[in-house]
Amino acid sequence: MVNVIILSETEDMSSLNELYQQIAQCFKCEIAKSRCKVVPGEGAENADIIFIGEAPGLHEDQQGRPFVGQAGQFLDRLLASINLQRQQVYIANVIKCRPPDNRDPLPTEIQNCHQWLDSQIEIIKPKMIVTLGRYSMARYFPGKSISKIHGTAVKHDNVIYYAMYHPAAALHQQSLRQAIEADMLKIPKLLAEARNVQEVKPSASGGQQLNRFEV
Ligand code: URA
Repeated sequence: MVNVIILSETEDMSSLNELYQQIAQCFKCEIAKSRCKVVPGEGAENADIIFIGEAPGLHEDQQGRPFVGQAGQFLDRLLASINLQRQQVYIANVIKCRPPDNRDPLPTEIQNCHQWLDSQIEIIKPKMIVTLGRYSMARYFPGKSISKIHGTAVKHDNVIYYAMYHPAAALHQQSLRQAIEADMLKIPKLLAEARNVQEVKPSASGGQQLNRFEV
């Protein structure tokens, strides 16, 4: 089972909540000025798995929550297919403000937001990082093509990195939809593997592990 954290009132100022306050004060990019709400991410602070999308859209911008539109409902169904609810995982985006007209994020925006996602990962310490779409894939699999690497996993420093298509792209394209559904079904086995890996002591050489493997 993935761990679930339930925040009580006394735990309000968790490390993530402190980070959210800092993110809300970030105005490094022009798009911060046009945002309705900043969308830092949401989920369990001790989640074993984090899903990283691209950027907030209209609904996310209005609600301040990631993946709450059509793509988000599809993501919820994909999670349900492996018996997970969104409260049991962590969901974030590469950038935290909505690009106008849902345009692609700019390189400077990705760069400006880089530290926020780094900090989220540092706090959550996930055992598995799942990229949704090209922009988050580029962060961990630079130069790779999503059509080639989706559904395959790489282990690095005891964390499993796994690339998937973006739910918004897969929603309306039958071939991608089948691929994302199949890729999601591989996650439980990978997650079990990730948990085992972390229980094994690092090798005496302390060297980095970088293995590509398929399930
Ligand atoms: N698409 C994303 O990449 N992120 C969201 O939060 C919503 C849609």
